[in-house]
Amino acid sequence: MPELPEVETIKRDLSKSIVGRRFVDVSLNWPRAVQIPSPDEFCHRLEGQCIQEIFRRGKYLVLRLATGEALILHFMMSGSLLLDTQGDSHPYSRALFLLDDGARLHFRDPRKLGRMWLVPDENVVVGKLGPEPLGPGFTAEVLMEGVIKRPVPIKALLCDQSFLAGVGNMYADEAIFAAAIHPQRMANSLSNEEIARLHRAIRRVLEEAIGSHGASINDYRRPDGEPGTAQFVFKVAHRSGKPCPVCETPIERIPIRNRGTCFCPNCQRES
Ligand SMILES: [Zn+2]
Repeated sequence: MPELPEVETIKRDLSKSIVGRRFVDVSLNWPRAVQIPSPDEFCHRLEGQCIQEIFRRGKYLVLRLATGEALILHFMMSGSLLLDTQGDSHPYSRALFLLDDGARLHFRDPRKLGRMWLVPDENVVVGKLGPEPLGPGFTAEVLMEGVIKRPVPIKALLCDQSFLAGVGNMYADEAIFAAAIHPQRMANSLSNEEIARLHRAIRRVLEEAIGSHGASINDYRRPDGEPGTAQFVFKVAHRSGKPCPVCETPIERIPIRNRGTCFCPNCQRES
Protein backbone atom coordinates (compact mmCIF):
# COMPACT_ATOMS: atom_id res chain seq x y z
CA MET A 1 0.00 0.00 0.00
CA PRO A 2 1.39 3.43 -0.87
CA GLU A 3 2.43 5.24 2.32
CA LEU A 4 3.99 8.65 2.87
CA PRO A 5 7.22 8.06 0.86
CA GLU A 6 5.33 6.65 -2.14
CA VAL A 7 2.77 9.47 -2.23
CA GLU A 8 5.55 12.05 -1.71
CA THR A 9 7.37 10.55 -4.71
CA ILE A 10 4.23 10.75 -6.86
CA LYS A 11 3.80 14.39 -5.79
CA ARG A 12 7.41 15.34 -6.57
CA ASP A 13 7.42 13.56 -9.93
CA LEU A 14 4.09 15.05 -11.04
CA SER A 15 4.74 18.58 -9.81
CA LYS A 16 7.32 19.00 -12.58
CA SER A 17 4.86 18.18 -15.34
CA ILE A 18 1.25 18.88 -14.35
CA VAL A 19 1.26 22.13 -12.35
CA GLY A 20 -0.14 24.87 -14.60
CA ARG A 21 -1.86 22.35 -16.86
CA ARG A 22 -5.61 22.28 -17.46
CA PHE A 23 -7.99 19.29 -17.50
CA VAL A 24 -9.45 19.02 -21.02
CA ASP A 25 -11.45 15.84 -20.48
CA VAL A 26 -12.10 13.51 -17.54
CA SER A 27 -13.58 10.01 -17.91
CA LEU A 28 -14.24 7.25 -15.39
CA ASN A 29 -14.00 3.49 -15.92
CA TRP A 30 -14.82 2.87 -12.27
CA PRO A 31 -17.23 5.62 -11.14
CA ARG A 32 -17.45 4.19 -7.60
CA ALA A 33 -13.97 5.55 -6.91
CA VAL A 34 -15.53 9.01 -6.68
CA GLN A 35 -16.74 9.78 -3.14
CA ILE A 36 -17.78 13.43 -3.56
CA PRO A 37 -19.64 14.74 -5.64
CA SER A 38 -21.55 12.44 -8.06
CA PRO A 39 -19.35 10.87 -10.77
CA ASP A 40 -21.00 12.97 -13.50
CA GLU A 41 -20.54 16.18 -11.59
CA PHE A 42 -16.94 15.21 -10.73
CA CYS A 43 -16.03 14.96 -14.44
CA HIS A 44 -18.06 17.99 -15.47
CA ARG A 45 -16.67 20.28 -12.77
CA LEU A 46 -13.04 19.27 -13.39
CA GLU A 47 -13.10 19.94 -17.12
CA GLY A 48 -11.45 23.26 -17.93
CA GLN A 49 -9.93 23.64 -14.47
CA CYS A 50 -6.27 24.58 -14.06
CA ILE A 51 -3.98 22.73 -11.60
CA GLN A 52 -2.39 25.40 -9.44
CA GLU A 53 -0.54 23.38 -6.82
CA ILE A 54 0.08 19.77 -5.83
CA PHE A 55 0.81 18.67 -2.28
CA ARG A 56 0.63 15.68 0.02
CA ARG A 57 -1.13 15.34 3.37
CA GLY A 58 -0.50 11.97 5.06
CA LYS A 59 -1.21 9.35 2.39
CA TYR A 60 -3.49 11.72 0.45
CA LEU A 61 -2.46 13.54 -2.72
CA VAL A 62 -4.10 16.96 -3.12
CA LEU A 63 -4.33 18.91 -6.38
CA ARG A 64 -5.38 22.49 -5.68
CA LEU A 65 -7.26 23.99 -8.61
CA ALA A 66 -7.33 27.62 -9.69
CA THR A 67 -10.94 27.95 -8.47
CA GLY A 68 -9.77 27.01 -4.95
CA GLU A 69 -11.37 23.55 -5.14
CA ALA A 70 -9.28 20.50 -4.30
CA LEU A 71 -9.05 17.20 -6.18
CA ILE A 72 -7.96 14.64 -3.59
CA LEU A 73 -6.80 11.07 -4.23
CA HIS A 74 -6.19 8.19 -1.85
CA PHE A 75 -4.39 5.20 -3.35
CA MET A 76 -5.49 2.63 -0.73
CA MET A 77 -4.00 -0.82 -1.48
CA SER A 78 -2.95 -0.69 -5.11
CA GLY A 79 -3.51 2.75 -6.66
CA SER A 80 -0.96 4.80 -8.57
CA LEU A 81 -0.90 7.61 -11.12
CA LEU A 82 0.69 7.03 -14.52
CA LEU A 83 1.55 9.98 -16.72
CA ASP A 84 1.42 8.84 -20.33
CA THR A 85 2.51 11.02 -23.23
CA GLN A 86 2.23 8.28 -25.89
CA GLY A 87 -1.52 7.59 -25.74
CA ASP A 88 -1.01 3.94 -24.82
CA SER A 89 -3.83 1.98 -23.19
CA HIS A 90 -3.26 0.85 -19.62
CA PRO A 91 -4.88 -2.12 -17.89
CA TYR A 92 -6.57 -1.26 -14.60
CA SER A 93 -6.99 2.43 -15.53
CA ARG A 94 -10.01 3.54 -13.46
CA ALA A 95 -9.98 7.23 -14.40
CA LEU A 96 -8.37 9.14 -17.25
CA PHE A 97 -7.50 12.83 -17.00
CA LEU A 98 -6.61 14.37 -20.36
CA LEU A 99 -4.44 17.48 -19.98
CA ASP A 100 -4.14 20.49 -22.28
CA ASP A 101 -0.61 19.55 -23.38
CA GLY A 102 -1.88 16.17 -24.65
CA ALA A 103 -0.58 14.14 -21.69
CA ARG A 104 -2.87 11.53 -20.13
CA LEU A 105 -2.92 10.95 -16.43
CA HIS A 106 -4.25 7.48 -15.55
CA PHE A 107 -5.50 6.56 -12.10
CA ARG A 108 -4.39 2.93 -12.19
CA ASP A 109 -5.84 0.69 -9.49
CA PRO A 110 -6.04 -3.11 -9.93
CA ARG A 111 -7.97 -3.67 -6.69
CA LYS A 112 -10.45 -0.80 -7.22
CA LEU A 113 -10.18 0.43 -3.64
CA GLY A 114 -8.68 3.87 -4.39
CA ARG A 115 -10.82 6.94 -3.82
CA MET A 116 -11.22 10.44 -5.22
CA TRP A 117 -12.94 13.58 -3.99
CA LEU A 118 -13.58 17.02 -5.52
CA VAL A 119 -14.31 19.40 -2.67
CA PRO A 120 -14.33 23.17 -2.03
CA ASP A 121 -12.04 22.72 1.01
CA GLU A 122 -9.57 19.83 1.43
CA ASN A 123 -10.15 19.78 5.20
CA VAL A 124 -13.46 18.00 4.55
CA VAL A 125 -11.26 14.97 3.77
CA VAL A 126 -7.89 15.53 5.46
CA GLY A 127 -8.88 17.79 8.37
CA LYS A 128 -8.73 15.11 11.07
CA LEU A 129 -5.29 13.71 10.29
CA GLY A 130 -2.52 13.76 12.89
CA PRO A 131 0.72 15.70 12.42
CA GLU A 132 3.05 15.25 9.45
CA PRO A 133 5.99 13.13 10.67
CA LEU A 134 8.50 15.13 8.62
CA GLY A 135 6.95 18.51 9.49
CA PRO A 136 8.35 20.96 12.07
CA GLY A 137 5.37 20.31 14.38
CA PHE A 138 6.31 16.67 14.98
CA THR A 139 8.92 16.79 17.75
CA ALA A 140 9.98 14.14 20.26
CA GLU A 141 8.00 16.12 22.87
CA VAL A 142 4.83 15.94 20.75
CA LEU A 143 5.31 12.17 20.43
CA MET A 144 5.85 11.87 24.22
CA GLU A 145 2.68 13.82 24.97
CA GLY A 146 0.79 11.74 22.41
CA VAL A 147 1.67 8.31 23.78
CA ILE A 148 1.01 9.06 27.47
CA LYS A 149 -2.70 8.21 27.45
CA ARG A 150 -2.51 5.46 24.83
CA PRO A 151 -2.62 1.93 26.26
CA VAL A 152 -2.39 0.40 22.77
CA PRO A 153 0.49 -1.44 21.06
CA ILE A 154 2.95 1.07 19.61
CA LYS A 155 2.65 -0.61 16.20
CA ALA A 156 -1.10 0.00 16.11
CA LEU A 157 -0.71 3.59 17.29
CA LEU A 158 1.84 4.51 14.59
CA CYS A 159 -0.60 3.23 11.93
CA ASP A 160 -3.47 5.35 13.35
CA GLN A 161 -3.79 8.22 10.86
CA SER A 162 -5.42 10.50 13.43
CA PHE A 163 -2.33 10.06 15.63
CA LEU A 164 0.33 10.42 12.93
CA ALA A 165 -0.35 11.00 9.23
CA GLY A 166 1.22 8.92 6.49
CA VAL A 167 2.85 6.00 8.31
CA GLY A 168 1.38 2.58 7.51
CA ASN A 169 2.30 -1.06 7.97
CA MET A 170 5.69 -1.13 6.21
CA TYR A 171 7.26 2.00 7.62
CA ALA A 172 5.85 1.45 11.11
CA ASP A 173 7.60 -1.96 11.18
CA GLU A 174 10.83 -0.43 9.88
CA ALA A 175 10.81 2.49 12.35
CA ILE A 176 9.98 0.30 15.36
CA PHE A 177 12.82 -2.07 14.40
CA ALA A 178 15.25 0.84 13.98
CA ALA A 179 14.29 2.01 17.48
CA ALA A 180 14.80 -1.55 18.89
CA ILE A 181 11.31 -1.63 20.46
CA HIS A 182 8.98 -4.65 20.53
CA PRO A 183 5.96 -3.84 18.33
CA GLN A 184 3.51 -5.09 21.00
CA ARG A 185 4.83 -2.73 23.70
CA MET A 186 2.06 -0.52 25.03
CA ALA A 187 2.66 3.02 23.80
CA ASN A 188 2.17 4.47 27.28
CA SER A 189 4.87 2.16 28.71
CA LEU A 190 7.70 3.56 26.57
CA SER A 191 10.48 5.47 28.34
CA ASN A 192 11.40 8.97 27.21
CA GLU A 193 14.63 7.58 25.78
CA GLU A 194 12.73 4.98 23.74
CA ILE A 195 10.33 7.65 22.46
CA ALA A 196 13.21 9.91 21.45
CA ARG A 197 14.79 6.95 19.62
CA LEU A 198 11.50 6.13 17.91
CA HIS A 199 11.00 9.76 16.87
CA ARG A 200 14.42 9.84 15.20
CA ALA A 201 13.79 6.42 13.60
CA ILE A 202 10.41 7.42 12.09
CA ARG A 203 11.92 10.46 10.41
CA ARG A 204 15.05 8.69 9.22
CA VAL A 205 13.15 5.70 7.78
CA LEU A 206 10.71 7.96 5.89
CA GLU A 207 13.44 10.28 4.58
CA GLU A 208 15.53 7.36 3.34
CA ALA A 209 12.50 5.80 1.62
CA ILE A 210 11.72 9.09 -0.13
CA GLY A 211 15.36 9.11 -1.29
CA SER A 212 14.70 5.65 -2.81
CA HIS A 213 11.46 6.90 -4.46
CA GLY A 214 9.29 4.60 -2.33
CA ALA A 215 8.92 0.82 -2.18
CA SER A 216 7.54 -1.25 -5.07
CA ILE A 217 6.40 -4.39 -3.26
CA ASN A 218 3.26 -4.96 -5.33
CA ASP A 219 1.56 -2.44 -7.57
CA TYR A 220 3.18 0.87 -6.70
CA ARG A 221 4.97 2.58 -9.58
CA ARG A 222 6.24 6.12 -10.10
CA PRO A 223 4.27 8.27 -12.59
CA ASP A 224 6.76 7.34 -15.35
CA GLY A 225 6.14 3.63 -14.69
CA GLU A 226 9.47 3.03 -12.94
CA PRO A 227 9.53 1.14 -9.62
CA GLY A 228 10.86 2.57 -6.37
CA THR A 229 13.77 0.81 -4.64
CA ALA A 230 13.14 1.29 -0.90
CA GLN A 231 12.12 -2.38 -0.55
CA PHE A 232 15.73 -3.44 -1.21
CA VAL A 233 16.88 -1.87 2.05
CA PHE A 234 13.96 -3.01 4.23
CA LYS A 235 15.28 -4.73 7.34
CA VAL A 236 12.07 -6.37 8.62
CA ALA A 237 9.07 -5.27 6.50
CA HIS A 238 8.01 -8.03 4.05
CA ARG A 239 10.97 -10.14 5.27
CA SER A 240 9.20 -12.75 7.39
CA GLY A 241 11.44 -15.84 7.84
CA LYS A 242 14.53 -14.12 6.44
CA PRO A 243 17.55 -13.41 8.68
CA CYS A 244 17.67 -10.17 10.67
CA PRO A 245 20.38 -8.00 9.05
CA VAL A 246 21.77 -7.20 12.52
CA CYS A 247 21.78 -10.59 14.34
CA GLU A 248 20.61 -13.15 11.74
CA THR A 249 17.67 -14.34 13.88
CA PRO A 250 14.74 -15.17 11.54
CA ILE A 251 12.26 -12.27 11.26
CA GLU A 252 8.88 -13.18 12.77
CA ARG A 253 5.44 -12.12 11.58
CA ILE A 254 2.60 -11.72 14.07
CA PRO A 255 -0.84 -10.08 13.87
CA ILE A 256 -1.25 -6.88 15.89
CA ARG A 257 -4.80 -5.49 15.69
CA ASN A 258 -5.26 -7.47 12.46
CA ARG A 259 -2.12 -6.05 10.83
CA GLY A 260 0.70 -8.40 9.87
CA THR A 261 3.72 -7.17 11.80
CA CYS A 262 7.33 -8.14 11.05
CA PHE A 263 10.01 -7.83 13.73
CA CYS A 264 13.20 -9.40 15.07
CA PRO A 265 12.49 -11.26 18.33
CA ASN A 266 16.14 -10.82 19.37
CA CYS A 267 16.76 -7.14 18.55
CA GLN A 268 13.27 -6.10 19.69
CA ARG A 269 12.85 -7.66 23.16
CA GLU A 270 9.57 -7.35 25.00
CA SER A 271 11.08 -5.66 28.06
ZN1 LIG B 1 17.95 -8.99 15.06
